[in-house]
This record gives sequence, structure tokens and C-alpha cells, in this order.
Amino acid sequence: FKVPAIENEPMRTYAAGTVERKGLEAALAQMQQELPFEVPCIVNGLPIKTGKLAKQPIPSDHARHLCVYHEADEATVASAIDGALAAKAEWEAMPWNDRAAIFLRAAELVSGKYRYKLVAATMLGQGKNAWQAEIDAAAELSDFFRFGVKYVEELYAQQPPKNAAGSWNRVEYRALEGFVLAVSPFNFTAIGGNLPGVPAIVGNTVVWKPSPAATYSNYLIYQILAEAGVPAGVIQFVPGPPPEVVAQAISHPNFAALHFTGSTFIFKKLWKDIAANLDKYKGYPRIVGETGGKNFHVIHKSAEIRNAVLQTIRGGFEYQGQKCSALSRLYVSSSLWSSGFKDLLLSEVAKIKIGSPSDFGNFMGPVIGRPAYDKIIGFIQKAKDAGGEVLIGGTGDDSKGYFIQPTVILTKDPESVTMKEEIFGPVITVYVYDDAKYEQTLELIDNTSPYALTGSIFSADRKALLTATNKLRNAAGNVYYNEKCTGAVVGQQPFGGGRASGTNDKAGSISIFYRFVSARSIKENF
Ligand code: GLU
Repeated sequence: FKVPAIENEPMRTYAAGTVERKGLEAALAQMQQELPFEVPCIVNGLPIKTGKLAKQPIPSDHARHLCVYHEADEATVASAIDGALAAKAEWEAMPWNDRAAIFLRAAELVSGKYRYKLVAATMLGQGKNAWQAEIDAAAELSDFFRFGVKYVEELYAQQPPKNAAGSWNRVEYRALEGFVLAVSPFNFTAIGGNLPGVPAIVGNTVVWKPSPAATYSNYLIYQILAEAGVPAGVIQFVPGPPPEVVAQAISHPNFAALHFTGSTFIFKKLWKDIAANLDKYKGYPRIVGETGGKNFHVIHKSAEIRNAVLQTIRGGFEYQGQKCSALSRLYVSSSLWSSGFKDLLLSEVAKIKIGSPSDFGNFMGPVIGRPAYDKIIGFIQKAKDAGGEVLIGGTGDDSKGYFIQPTVILTKDPESVTMKEEIFGPVITVYVYDDAKYEQTLELIDNTSPYALTGSIFSADRKALLTATNKLRNAAGNVYYNEKCTGAVVGQQPFGGGRASGTNDKAGSISIFYRFVSARSIKENF
């Protein structure tokens, strides 16, 4: 038995006049008409309406709500955990080809029947334009499921150990003992599917707390997984209120692992809380997290200006900079800056259209919510207070939606606050370095921020690329040459970083699956 050969899901452009554009527009119109949707918790396959209602606002039109959801209460979380523990034996014992087929089928449902609905929910609820929603909720989500199956097949098929005469050694990859807690973020619908998906594919059962700001698209994923055949109890869907759900799960004696994407602050807190509960557990929990970033582009004097500028704009401003991987500190050679880089950057940024994601002409949409809006505007102010010069943007309009202009700040202090701290918004801070100080600048990049997620080097000179790659050995988990620092593709660029950016277990690769299995070695003598 071999799973079918797989490819990355082809992406649709939604160009005007195409069938796919009409399909997506129809899905958006229908969703606008039917909202707000009611979303229950789902435990053991059954909807639970706790009556503790919370809303998921539409960030481009915050007076409206995409869904009203029932927050999990203590009893719901308790039965979700019990149910996950009860469902485990049968799920793990299911023949691998059946488990694999369920996730391959889920991928087909994502890329086929539910594609427009998922993309529309991601556009409305999370404020992505059609292209950003497509690469996330359609392509990356189906890739995560399909490649996940391929990687687990490879894991199970690994080279068996050697045998001495008269004996046979085997290694089996068991699911972890207990349940896995998945805590997913708002910014990628695909990560909503991947955080419970990875542990489940290898036979774990999962209590999944989605982000409040992605509740509806994540609920659709739950429904897809159920329709594909994930049995009741294997993935328990328990939205909100984050601290309570998570605290209850990690204080349970059968807590086996955390699969997390979100802020560094919360991840560190959870790590400490897990440590404080350690004596309660049967084993040492696996802690897998992808957290923040303070990602850089370094532009060498030999770089091709047009490509470097366009990649910079895409890296910094696509999805309003709300990717962990988004560009936020830009180091440009002084000769390039003054010989066209600055002018082209500012003239191209000035052309950016910003507004509702359902208007297909907009390159940028809203940031996710009120706290994000206030925090980003606050950072722009802090940069100005510290002597930064706003070259373009710098303002917002929150009257209808949470819109912030694409902002470029020039700083003379390479260690100023917006060069160091994660902003998670459409703000790029530029430091112009002396051409002769390329190597010192690389040291500066390495030392300025606690994060180490992504970074790009732009140069036509391979020696300069190599110097940067060597000097920045630990400054990023994903490095790109002459390309923006966002947009890792499942199966092509394993994704994740070190230092304060996470445990670097590499989403979209085989590595992550090792974290959710516990190997057993068996020697049999004949
Ligand atoms: N994998 C995404 C990228 O490479 C970022 C994921 C995230 O924001 O967590 O852009």
C-alpha cells in the first residue's frame, strides 16, 4: 500500500470574468446574506450550545458579525477531554490506510466542495484579500492534509533496525499517551487545520481551541474533517475563552502535548504553567510552538532594485503584515537607497489600495481587531517619539473597519523600538547602512531582536549571500535569497524558527510528526 502521489494544490487567481471569480463572489454574497452564523462547541461529534455567547466581528465592517459562538464552559471542556481519551484506542488502532484516506478526503473537500466557502469565510472573518485567502484556506490547508499523510507514511516506513541472528527488532511509532491540546491562531485558516491535524494523523486525539477571531472558518474545517470521516471524539472543537480552556486542559493528568501557534508571551506563560503542573502528569509533555517574529530583509549594494522593492512591499504589507513571517525590519545599502530604492519604494507604496477584502481591487484589508489596531498605531507613535521619520503612511481609520495605512519609518537608530519588538501590522522600519559596513550590519541584525523566524538577503553577488548566510546562522529558521521572507510552501520550505520564535519543529515537513509520536522498540527472539 502506498498513498497516491501528491502535488501542491494549484492556486486560483480569481481574475475578473473567470468561473472561479463568479463562484467566489456567489459564496461571499450568500455568506453576507446568511450571517451571523451560530457556532456551537462540538464534543464527541455532538453540538453543545453552552449559551455563553461571544461574537466574531468582521474586521472590515466591525458593526457586523460573521458568527456568534458558544464558548466552552468547564463542563464542556471536561467532557471534551474525557471523550478524546475514550476515542483514542479505536482511532489509533484504525488501519493506517483508513486514517490516511480520511485526511486525503478532507483535502479533496477543501480544494473542491468547500473551497469558495472557506476562502469567503477567511476573507470576511479574518480580513484577507481573495489571493491571500486562497493561498491559505484553499491551497495551504489542503497541502497540510495531503503532505501530512505522505510524511506519516514515510515515518512508518522508515528503515527498520538491524537484526542479530535468531531475533527480529521492530520499532513502532505510537501516538502519545493522553490527549493533545491544539491552540491555533487567527492569521492562517490553514494553521487552524494543521494544529489538530498533525497529531490526529499519527493517531492522537485532540482538544482544539481555535482563535476567537477565526472561529467561523475553523468551524468549517471541523465540519470538513467530520464529513471526511474523522470519528466523533477524535478532534473536539472547543472555542473560547482562551485562558480558561487552556488552563483546564493543561492541568489535566492526561495532558500529553501542546501544539501551539500564537504569541511568544502566551507560549512562555503556557510553558511555565505546564512546568508547574509537571508532577500531575503521567509523562513529560511535548511542547511544540511557533510564535513571533521580527523578520528582516537585508539589501546588499549589488541587489536588483525593482525586485528588492516589490518583494519588500509584499513581505511587509501582504495581509497587513499579520504573518509571523512578515517583514518588519529592512536594512538597505546606502548607495542603493539613494540611487532609486527609496523613490521606487515610496512610489509603489503610494499606489497600494486598501479597503474591504470583498472588493477585489484592494491589496490590503483591515487588521484583525481593536486591540491590534491600537497596538499598531501605538508602535507608530513610539517610533516617532524615538526620532523615527514616517516616510509614508502612519495613520489609520477605524470608523468602519480597522484600516491602517502601509507605513514606512526611517530610523537612524538600528536598535530603536520598532526595529526590535514585534508589531504584527503593516509597518516596516528602515535602517540605511553604509555600504562598507555590510558585515557589521549582519552582526547588528543578529543581535537586535530576540526572534529568529525568517529573513531574506537580496544580492546579485553570491559571496554576499554566503557571508550573510554564515553570519546569520541562528537569526532565522527560514532564509530566502532574492525573495520576500513570507510564503513558505508546504513540502517545499519546512517552516519555523528558533530563539523566541518557537521550537522550530518545522510545519509542512516530516519533522513535526516526530513530536507527536512515542517510539516503542520491540525485540523478539525466535
Ligand atoms: N507559513 C507562513 C509564511 O511562511 C507564516 C505562518 C505564520 O504566520 O504563522 O508566511
